Amino acid sequence: MTQKSNAVVVGAGVVGLTAAFLLQQKGFEVTLLDSADQPGGLMRSKYSPFGDFDYGTHVGVATGEALLDDFLYQHEQLDLVKFNIGKSGNFYNHQLSEISPFLNLNHLDKDDYQGLALSLLQPQIGAHIHNLEDKFISLYGEAVFHRVIEPVVNKYFGLPAKKISASAYAFFDMNRLVSFDAETTQRLKQVPEYDNCLGFHGATSGADKYYPSSGGIGAWYQALLDKTIACGVKYLGNCQVSAVNTLKSKIVGVQTNLGDFTCQQFIWAVPSPLLGHLLHSKPRVAKPVYRATAIYDFTFDQPLKSDCYYINVHQPDKLSGRITLYQNLDVKAQREGHFQVTVEVLQEAGFDFESRIDDIKLELESIGLIDAKHQCLYESVQPLNQGFPIISTETEQSVVSLNKALLHTFDNLALLGRGNCQGFFMSSLLLQAFEQCNEMEPV
Ligand SMILES: Cc1cc2nc3c(=O)[nH]c(=O)nc-3n(C[C@H](O)[C@H](O)[C@H](O)COP(=O)(O)OP(=O)(O)OC[C@H]3O[C@@H](n4cnc5c(N)ncnc54)[C@H](O)[C@@H]3O)c2cc1C
Repeated sequence: MTQKSNAVVVGAGVVGLTAAFLLQQKGFEVTLLDSADQPGGLMRSKYSPFGDFDYGTHVGVATGEALLDDFLYQHEQLDLVKFNIGKSGNFYNHQLSEISPFLNLNHLDKDDYQGLALSLLQPQIGAHIHNLEDKFISLYGEAVFHRVIEPVVNKYFGLPAKKISASAYAFFDMNRLVSFDAETTQRLKQVPEYDNCLGFHGATSGADKYYPSSGGIGAWYQALLDKTIACGVKYLGNCQVSAVNTLKSKIVGVQTNLGDFTCQQFIWAVPSPLLGHLLHSKPRVAKPVYRATAIYDFTFDQPLKSDCYYINVHQPDKLSGRITLYQNLDVKAQREGHFQVTVEVLQEAGFDFESRIDDIKLELESIGLIDAKHQCLYESVQPLNQGFPIISTETEQSVVSLNKALLHTFDNLALLGRGNCQGFFMSSLLLQAFEQCNEMEPV
């Protein structure tokens, strides 16, 4: 049976969901489809008797667009804790620094540090930026790149920086470094070139951030889904798109295991190569590649020894990447005497994550977050599927050409979300969705 619908949105991550809500508000009749049995994409939480753990994203950040922020952060049924200053830290060369998520050069051995810190002040030669190596050299210079940044890039991406797209430079808070002292940094940051590469010593106020007082980030997604369904959007999970119907310059519908849907407006909020494959379009693009990632969740019987809400372990020889301390985010966790932590670990495909759970606990101890008195009440490790994309320069070029070809061919298509080489972080993707939905009108 073919069902009439004005707009079809494929992908019910936070971006597709938001697009569905905005279009329904504009007068479209929207159907939102997701292939997974659980909606939310990377914005889900796992619930256990020992507390809630997030799957990917942890914190929502205000976008500055009143209408959008109203949808995202104003809820009658959900208590969102708002905070403006989020304290975060980093671990490098065996030292924990609780002043910034950026790698702290001051942790280098003295002789090493002096030469490198001085080289940061040398003007970098303006050159074309073709890849991540060029980008980092333009920010920090050759010496800092090769001595400090290159090993960290290898740890996170598992690929030489020369092969990675420059657009990945802000992943893992690699877009700035901490150096010098706080006062010198304050002064240097008045010069745009230094402002671009140096981070403040200490948390600064920025956009408002939000986290649910209970239920983790998944509770926030659920509140958004409830709001979206309440305004009339039809949501279908476990829905596999098997074919896309086209007529001249339009995508006019999709065929799925749950029926066929026609549309005037078509929103694809999953990676565009998957749409390319369904349409057999040219240029052909390989499906996206992701870094093998696991999420280690632990609950301890007493607080972890930091007031940061997350810490980046930049030290290359540690397995741990970002560590999230829910006690500094989630009010309910503290009330119940359960102190949860999530550690993200990125490795080569085939890495035996399961066998390393004790090593991760030892790392928490060596970083100084727990000690011998901490008792672990709960532990688990699970893979994070399709988490961090490895955006090679080649992939980026081919996805960008594919996007151009698709958008040139179909005038009722919008490509949104993190799978289209148009960004990775939530706020910028949501703003793109907001701007594009604003331009769409029901026929
Ligand atoms: C570990 C981790 C931590 C992160 N932390 C932060 C953070 O702190 N701050 C931040 O701003 N960003 C963070 N990000 C990035 C953030 O998660 C993304 O910006 C956000 O999830 C993008 O949402 P999305 O809707 O585009 O994609 P997704 O969340 O990936 O959702 C895509 C949806 O599409 C569905 N889907 C996929 N294929 C199909 C198909 N063929 N048919 C139908 N449906 C399909 C999936 O099931 C999923 O529901 C993090 C990412 C990771 C991996």
